Amino acid sequence: MTLSLGIDFGTSGARGVVIDEEGCVLSEMRHYWLVETIDWVKCWREALWSLLGQIPEALRGEIGAIAINGTSSTILLTDGAGEPVDAPLLYNDGRGAAALEQLSRIAPDNHTVLSATSSLAKLLWMQALPDFAKARYLLHQADWLGFLLHGELGISDYHNALKLGYDVEKLQYPEWLEQLEIPLQLPQVLTPGTAIGELLPRIAADFGFKGDCLVVAGTTDSIAAFLASGAKFPGEAVTSLGSTLVLKLLSRQRIEDARYGIYSHRLGDLWLTGGASNTGGAVLKHFFSNVELVRLSAEIDPTQPSELDYYPLLKPGDRFPINDPQLLPRLEPRPDQNKEFLHGLLESMARIETRGYELLQNLGADSLTHIYTAGGGATNSVWTAIRQRYSKVPVVSSIHTEAAYGTALLAMGKVQI
Ligand code: ADP
Repeated sequence: MTLSLGIDFGTSGARGVVIDEEGCVLSEMRHYWLVETIDWVKCWREALWSLLGQIPEALRGEIGAIAINGTSSTILLTDGAGEPVDAPLLYNDGRGAAALEQLSRIAPDNHTVLSATSSLAKLLWMQALPDFAKARYLLHQADWLGFLLHGELGISDYHNALKLGYDVEKLQYPEWLEQLEIPLQLPQVLTPGTAIGELLPRIAADFGFKGDCLVVAGTTDSIAAFLASGAKFPGEAVTSLGSTLVLKLLSRQRIEDARYGIYSHRLGDLWLTGGASNTGGAVLKHFFSNVELVRLSAEIDPTQPSELDYYPLLKPGDRFPINDPQLLPRLEPRPDQNKEFLHGLLESMARIETRGYELLQNLGADSLTHIYTAGGGATNSVWTAIRQRYSKVPVVSSIHTEAAYGTALLAMGKVQI
């Protein structure tokens, strides 16, 4: 039996999952870091070796393929030997804002790179770094971690490369990018899951992996979480009920609408469309503890609609499904009973979810057939029943929601890309 290893580098830590050919989880590993970490390169390296070291020795020799996902738009510059020449810029770093004016003169209107946190905006900002001249390669987090395992520099995948401006439809860098005359090697872009090379012999020997264990091209953390759900047909969607509300709908049509922050990732012959709203669990957390959420939810009758019409936000502004930076939180009137207040919040978020899927479909995405659910809110069956009432399609919890699991499926070649 050949096993596969998926490694997820998320926002608060790294996780690994080893699965067998049936997709059963045989081992899980975790390594957390401090969010105020200063030396990210050291931290990621330590996390990678820590995860490999946590895999039970009996399993290591059975692993046939490894894939890694990283946070989208986390990038770093390396020299010709793969050593970082400066600190990485993390996914949420907005310093690329300084490059947006230059970029907007070159990139097509509304392109995904025209955001302060896009990889390309960050790269342009990095050109002013004192050590930029030493840089030979621009790599995403997942590319660099993969390099530590297989030793090949300058290789990426078309999920990570989207926000670098790579044309995922034509599978080439667009001509307008050449006008920027970036004086270093942009990564060669492969289909996620494509074999890059064998694990370096030194690492295989040190940890007891097989000599022919393959390292394959990776993906981003949010796509990996989608892959974990098992959704693979047009019309299947995953709603993430985490701190925010994130919708992803698999479609035959590519849709883009920068006004709503909607864009599509390529998934083989299909497109993973989606958008993110600022409503979500962070608002629930502001008012209730997790224990209260469970207790109060159990008192709600999900078959009875709540009359309360909220737009739950912690601060003004949303982009999807309503694009209005000034949109005010609507949390009034607040009933005396907490149970009724929570009912109104859950019901209002369900309406926003449905409106989001309607927007994606109105822009041309395939008709919704199923909603899988991930994130902290997925455990709430009362909320699921309320959402079911609005969405009119089956709403189910995903069996697997961890990005590391989706990445292990990618390593195994179990996802159609
Ligand atoms: P993050 O986006 O931070 O990774 P998680 O997926 O861990 O978020 O989900 C955390 C969120 O889930 C919290 O904001 C919390 O309010 C919400 N949550 C936790 N338990 C419940 C519950 N029983 N019902 C609804 N929401 C819940």
